[in-house]
Amino acid sequence: SATIDVPKLKMLDGREMPAIALGTYLGFDKGGAVTSKDKQLRNVVMEAIDLGYRHFDTAAIYNTEEEVGEAIRMKIEEGVIKREDVFLTTKLWNTHHKREQVAVAMKETLNKTGLDYVDLFLMHWPIGLNEDYSHSDTDYLETWRAMEDMVKLGHTKSIGLSNFNKFQVATVLQECTIKPVALQIEVHPQIIQEDLITYAKDEGIIVMGYSPFGSLVKRFGMEFPGPKMDDPVLTSLAKKYEKTPAQIVLRWLVDRNVVPIPKTVSSKRLLENINIFDFKLNEDEIEKINKFNSNTRYTLPSFWQKHPFYPFEMVPNPIPDPFRS
Ligand code: NDP
Repeated sequence: SATIDVPKLKMLDGREMPAIALGTYLGFDKGGAVTSKDKQLRNVVMEAIDLGYRHFDTAAIYNTEEEVGEAIRMKIEEGVIKREDVFLTTKLWNTHHKREQVAVAMKETLNKTGLDYVDLFLMHWPIGLNEDYSHSDTDYLETWRAMEDMVKLGHTKSIGLSNFNKFQVATVLQECTIKPVALQIEVHPQIIQEDLITYAKDEGIIVMGYSPFGSLVKRFGMEFPGPKMDDPVLTSLAKKYEKTPAQIVLRWLVDRNVVPIPKTVSSKRLLENINIFDFKLNEDEIEKINKFNSNTRYTLPSFWQKHPFYPFEMVPNPIPDPFRS
């Protein structure tokens, strides 16, 4: 008895993806991923399933695959869902880009989740790294071929890309035997990704938008410039639709055919964030929000910018590598 019925999007391999995913990245702390205390995340995911969430986004590097998997298994055991009712997205980390390493990483992911398969396995970055985080020149096409093997072996139903630029997506499309079904990138009012979204749409690739709230929320404990929750464009739309500014922004993503990945560990905001399927923005309203665009990225790992497959624009003063300090 789900509270909210989430629509699904058809992927180019014929499978379906629920139109919103719960983010499960809890942040980094002194070089390591933060894990939750006392199974907080597991409980949040179980609560999310009760509310109607059917799609969860994790990654090997987040250190949350175990808790997400446990929540899914417990809800299956409770009879609330069947395995095929939930969609689990996870990601291959950069230190496992070599052909034989992909299989190892995939097995580890399946062990951690306790599931027989995942629904979507993404290459987290086009960037291959060695174990000590020095740069590896492993081509992402080699990695992609290994990910195709994972589909053939039944370990994942679908495969896709994350943080690839347009040229890199095109390169994979040109060389692949199995097409990427999804591209996960940063999308919010300050980086609207018009070009990449149009390109992906033309190729039948579904775009998943990470960090959907952009400057509306504090990031890394810091306020960033850009529209806040009290921005008049957002508050006037919120008033019109009897929604919150956060819901307006999530709906803006949905109305642009982007699958938003909001992260929250609060019960109140879990419901708020999924309760966006009973209204729709019109084209003028979408355009008003598009105007916030300043191509600002919050995920900008400039410490990798000398890597041959770095996907983003270079900056004059790269930040120190948190993985190597
Ligand atoms: P989000 O835009 O989801 O912001 C999360 C923050 O917003 C948290 O501080 C959360 O706090 C707060 N929040 C959530 N809902 C609301 C609300 N309704 N009103 C006010 N505040 C709210 O950013 P993330 O960067 O966390 O990205 C989301 C997900 O995207 C990640 O968890 C991960 O799964 C994925 N991601 C993928 C990346 C990639 O490289 N592929 C990179 C970055 C993220 P609280 O929990 O207290 O509610």
